[in-house]
Parts: sequence; structure tokens; C-alpha cells
Amino acid sequence: LLLPLGAFIAAFIIGLVVWLSRRRLSPLGELQIAVRKREFIVHYQPIVELRTGICIGAEALVRWKRPDGSLVRPDHFIPLAEESGLITAITDQVIALVVSDLNSLLVADRSLHIAINLSATDVGTERVLPVIAKALQHTGIQPRQIWLEATERGFVDIEAARSTLARARELGYAVAIDDFGTGYSSLSYLEGLPLDALKIDKSFIDTISTNSATSSVTPHIIDMAKTLKLKIVAEGVETRAQADYLKERDVDYGQGWLFAGPMPAAEFIAYCRRAKVPAGKA
Ligand code: C2E
Ligand code: MG
Ligand code: MG
Ligand code: MG
Repeated sequence: LLLPLGAFIAAFIIGLVVWLSRRRLSPLGELQIAVRKREFIVHYQPIVELRTGICIGAEALVRWKRPDGSLVRPDHFIPLAEESGLITAITDQVIALVVSDLNSLLVADRSLHIAINLSATDVGTERVLPVIAKALQHTGIQPRQIWLEATERGFVDIEAARSTLARARELGYAVAIDDFGTGYSSLSYLEGLPLDALKIDKSFIDTISTNSATSSVTPHIIDMAKTLKLKIVAEGVETRAQADYLKERDVDYGQGWLFAGPMPAAEFIAYCRRAKVPAGKA
């Protein structure tokens, strides 16, 4: 009788240990540790003026650098970060990283700007605004060099978002709607938002020079942005044909693999020095 009891207790203990270690390694647990240990880095993807091919700045794109050196893409952890509230800590780390990575570059060339992604949670309150102001303090970076990107899908409370974005503009930051076309996107809805720029979602750029039903929507989005006097950034530009199409329609800026992918800060700084000459070989 004693033998089976011993085996049972052993199995129970092993089961408990496995359960505890799994629990310790839950995705949320890992992300909490990553935030505590500041395991994030930022890559920068150039944004190019389509007319001239000149690099006018970059979008800051966060990556989670795991202790084994591997990089985790934001799509794999931002949703969990938003759900759990860890996102505000990650946003703060991204802001600090952008300033420490690019301070010299942004001060040396005031025509450059950096776009920072804000999550739904960030836009829901004004909490992030003093965080940015504090990060910029004593740097010489000007507020207008900072673009804040917010996705309309993320607006849980539209009134709160509107007031945060309006306040951001009062403070001198530029505000862009990200992934435009994937959310509500009605003209009347946009008219009420305090905006400087609109980033057309990659899914619309993909349809350029195809005959899909969506491809007929892209010119309307461009017209809509022009009616509202917004700057336009086309995201996910991969082919010369797309860039030519956009240039013909006076779209201001492009971002995508045709020009350059996201890259580490040092590489972006070198890229910028070179890319005061046209990028993407116009
Ligand atoms: P997003 O803001 O729309 O950023 C553009 C994404 O498209 C980036 O993916 C970029 O690498 C990718 N991309 C750019 N050009 C091309 C192209 O020509 N072809 C293709 N196929 N893809 C292209 P990434 O870096 O994986 O970021 C994914 C999303 O994660 C971002 O979409 C943004 O919503 C979110 N994200 C990134 N960084 C942050 C951050 O610091 N905070 C928050 N809240 N979200 C972030
Ligand atoms: Mg973005
Ligand atoms: Mg985008
Ligand atoms: Mg996108």
C-alpha cells in the first residue's frame, strides 16, 4: 500500500512543479519580466518624400529583444501588452529609446521627424504627453519633430482620444492617423479629429495596379485626405509602380521595402547621412 502512495505523492509533486514553471513562463509573465528588465529596442524605418526621394525621418518600431538575442515582432506582444495594461510602460520605454538613440541626429537636422506609435490605451488619456515633454527636456529636439501615430480602431472613447490628440497638437507634436482605411474612416468622422497626417494602410497600397475592387477605393482615400488638407503617408510601398502611382497623385510621403525596411538606430543614422541624397533610386 505504501508503494503506490509514494508514487502518487511523487507524481503530484512533479505535476505541481511542472504547473508552477509553466505558470512562471506564461506569455504575460514573460512580458512582465521583459518590461521590468527593459528588454525592448527600437528599429527605425525611413519615411521618404516621394517627389524628391529624400528621407524626411522614420517611424519608430518596437522589438522585444529576448535574452537569447532573438527579436520578437510587435504583433506578437503588443495585443497582450494592451490587454494587460503593460503597454503604457512599453510606450514610455520606446519614447526614452527614441530620444537616446536619435537625439544627436534630430538636433543636427531639424527637418527630420520621428513617428511614435501610440496604442489605444495611450490615446485614452493625456498621461503620455508629459512623459514625452519630460523626455524632450534638455535635448534640443523640437516638439514638431515628433509625430504621434494613433489608429482609429484603437479609439475606445472617441471624445477622450480627440481631446488627447488636440492637446498633443497644442504642445506642438504632429498627429497622424495610422492604418487609415481599416477603421471607421468616414469623412465626417475624420473632420472632427485634430490631425496633421494620414497614413494609408498597406492593404490599399497593395491593390495599386491590380484590378481588385479595393483598388478603386485608394484614389478616394487620397482625395479625402486632400480635402481635409492632411499630409499623406503611404505605408507598405513595395514596388516602383506603386511609388509612381502615388507620386502622380501628389501623395507626400512613402514608407516601405522599396525604400528601406526597419533598421537599428546606428544603421538609420548612417542611412540618413547618405539619404539626404534621394533614396529608392528614383
Ligand atoms: P504600423 O504602425 O502600421 O507599422 C508598419 C508595419 O509595416 C511595420 O511592422 C513595418 O515593418 C511593416 N512594413 C513597412 N513597410 C513594409 C513593406 O513594404 N511591406 C510589408 N509587408 N511590411 C512593411 P512591424 O514593425 O512588425 O510593426 C507592426 C505593428 O506593431 C505596427 O504597425 C504598429 O501598429 C505596432 N507597433 C510597432 N511599434 C510599436 C510601438 O512602439 N508601440 C505600439 N503601441 N505599437 C507599435
Ligand atoms: Mg505606425
Ligand atoms: Mg501603419
Ligand atoms: Mg499598418
